[in-house]
Amino acid sequence: MTEVNFESYAPPAPLRDDVAAEYQKVWDALDASADEESAAAGVECWDALRRQLGTWMSLAQIRFHQDTQNDVYRKNRDYADQLQPYLTDLDVQTKRRLLDSPFREGLERRFGHQAFALWRCDVASFEPVLADDLVRQAGLVAEYTELIAGARFEFRGRTQTLSDMAKYAEYPGRAVRHEAATLRWNWFNEHVDEIDQLFDSLVGLRQSMAEKMGHKTFTSLGYEWMHRLDYGAEDVDSFRAQVREHVVPLAMEIRRRQGERLGIEPLMQWDEAIQDLSGNPRPQGDHDWMLERAAEMFADVGQGMDDFFQLMRRQRLLDLKSRPNKASGGFCDMLPSLGMPFIFANFNGAKHDVEVFTHEIGHAFQAYSSRDLALIDYHFPTYEACEIHSMGLEFLTWPSMERFFGDDADRFRRLHLTDSLLFIPYGTAVDHFQHLVYANPTASPAERAEMWQEMERLYLPTLKWGDLAFPASGRRWQAQPHIFGSPFYYIDYVLALTCALQLWDSAQTNRAETLKRYVALCQLGGSQSFKQLVDAAGLANPFEAGCLPRVVSRAEQSL
Ligand code: ZN
Repeated sequence: MTEVNFESYAPPAPLRDDVAAEYQKVWDALDASADEESAAAGVECWDALRRQLGTWMSLAQIRFHQDTQNDVYRKNRDYADQLQPYLTDLDVQTKRRLLDSPFREGLERRFGHQAFALWRCDVASFEPVLADDLVRQAGLVAEYTELIAGARFEFRGRTQTLSDMAKYAEYPGRAVRHEAATLRWNWFNEHVDEIDQLFDSLVGLRQSMAEKMGHKTFTSLGYEWMHRLDYGAEDVDSFRAQVREHVVPLAMEIRRRQGERLGIEPLMQWDEAIQDLSGNPRPQGDHDWMLERAAEMFADVGQGMDDFFQLMRRQRLLDLKSRPNKASGGFCDMLPSLGMPFIFANFNGAKHDVEVFTHEIGHAFQAYSSRDLALIDYHFPTYEACEIHSMGLEFLTWPSMERFFGDDADRFRRLHLTDSLLFIPYGTAVDHFQHLVYANPTASPAERAEMWQEMERLYLPTLKWGDLAFPASGRRWQAQPHIFGSPFYYIDYVLALTCALQLWDSAQTNRAETLKRYVALCQLGGSQSFKQLVDAAGLANPFEAGCLPRVVSRAEQSL
């Protein structure tokens, strides 16, 4: 594949009529197949088409996230949002043909059972009657993204974005932390009606889509959209109970010790992000310096990761700096036509930058390792498996942390592990909240706020908001983009962390073998289901009784 410069990469937008004609060709080929061989050729033709379309669709979203106020990018994103349900419909029609194909058995052997399982799920969860709703849903999510990206703060002599403001949570001076938190939540308070209204529309829309598809509530449809093939809401429910039983008490103990170390009683929300009086370790240089250290880190890891990172840099596939109008958050997406992933982040100079970096490179390396798998469906696995590659690499790069943090590397590692444990209750609360929201689709914004408060009582019992009246009123979740854009995407982080911590544990004693297992897992991509992938990587499945307590107790011992 030829290398490109991503910054100037601009393939033409696909036109509806051309797309329709291309799909017709695929269908004609499939319908006319006289044997497995010719049907397989039809599948390959379809896959090539999807790679080309998928590249443009990803690019439209990436560019919009890079500059949410650029008119061309906004127009393209809007067009992509309009086109998406149309493409989904064409794909579903193709998938239906393949599920019903007389050569299915042979095709399944050739391309893998997992694709057929995913397609069954897609066929069951989409009808053309959803198309307009899906366009509206994408529009509402984009509205939220734009709103958040447009937030500006005059703070410490500079105009700052929400991503910039996040770093003050780790500022050593307590008054600065408090002031930054106050400003941040004041902004959300000023936009509360808008955000409440947006979310209310999203919930209503999702409920109505669920009803159109014959579901009682959105939860079961949401699970299908997430491709949860080998576990259901009951499994997640009992996993959450394990978190409450085994992790919440541990997190409370960690907070108690933290307050003691800091000499702060009681520990307030704006103190939570710092673990000791010397302040959190920070990477010892700027963005360009970080890229150099990252190159060294990936050379330390080996396994082809160093060459891969250089390839990403050469093709300008990293957009890491925070700037005005850039969307918040971080993500990795695949550009199948280039055979390369793209990484988006918002560096702000805090230690989190290093974690985001290794996290997204984990996703990227997996996608790259899977680029030649037979089907585009396998470029990424389902999300809970995806997050094993990302969170796993955060831990597997531990021995290189001196490069970023110097003498503070040990403190960084301890903090990383502590934060990981503390994340489990929060991540689970976000998941539990979403289940409550979609089980009660007609709840009012005030009732949703009460649901969130209940989550804080269950999962974050030591949390104290003090005079931050707005988040205290049950609206912290409004700063969590997944709740708006990717329903039910959150427990995935907790499930994956339960697996990533096992990689961390095994790397302590057998690093070389663990790295090999990690790379092999990346190469499997999405060719298997979550439980199968976990099994193939020699990891215990998080739903198994005893898995979660065993994993967290290993981490606790190490702390
Ligand atoms: Zn991730």
